[in-house]
Amino acid sequence: MSQSQWTAVDNYIASRLVPPDAALEATLEASDAAGLPAINVAPNQGKFLNLLARMIGARNILEVGTLGGYSTIWLARALPAGGRLITLEYDPKHAQVARENIARAGLADRVDVRLGKAIDTLPEIAQEGLPPFDLVFIDADKPSNPDYFAWALKLARIGSVIIVDNVVRGGAVVDPQGDAAVQGVRRLNDLIAAETRVDATAIQTVGLKGYDGFVIALVVG
Ligand code: SAM
Repeated sequence: MSQSQWTAVDNYIASRLVPPDAALEATLEASDAAGLPAINVAPNQGKFLNLLARMIGARNILEVGTLGGYSTIWLARALPAGGRLITLEYDPKHAQVARENIARAGLADRVDVRLGKAIDTLPEIAQEGLPPFDLVFIDADKPSNPDYFAWALKLARIGSVIIVDNVVRGGAVVDPQGDAAVQGVRRLNDLIAAETRVDATAIQTVGLKGYDGFVIALVVG
């Protein structure tokens, strides 16, 4: 198996199951034109997030790591009337591009892009007395994964789902001496393993974004 084969299969899957979408394509084009890195989720992964949010009837979604708003749009489209999504981004340029993309997609009324380091904006959100988040998608700086997961747990309820992206890192996750991102993932797994309030697994994935994976956790207590 090779990257070219994974990419070909992802493109095939998208051609059958992820119909062309003007707003999402414009989001990627505008993000690229603005010089943002192409580290958004793949189209079939975005649709997975959308389906998951709909499957659990998510009304309140929290995203950590906005970039140009690609995954944000997939998730926000899953919201029912009156639903809300808050997404956290510390790079002003990324946040600005995301706001424009979200507005173009017709979702500005239900998406709130919060500018700032997530470790600072998460406690602010906790002070706001909002309803618990039904779904949290963590996809920002990987060394902070354990902190973000701990906040997600505080802001969730029994039955909420927490997804953490990029937890396999080309297989490097098995290296105890791995880089800071690997250390963040390994500490996250240690935290989850010791946490009685969640039940979780991790799934390895291949595709046009390479070899990686995600953690999926259910809040049970
Ligand atoms: N979820 C996006 C998608 O799939 O379309 C991709 C997010 S990208 C992998 C990670 C984003 O997190 C970047 O835009 C980066 O600027 C942002 N980020 C990194 N560190 C952050 C921090 N400490 N607080 C908030 N955002 C951060």
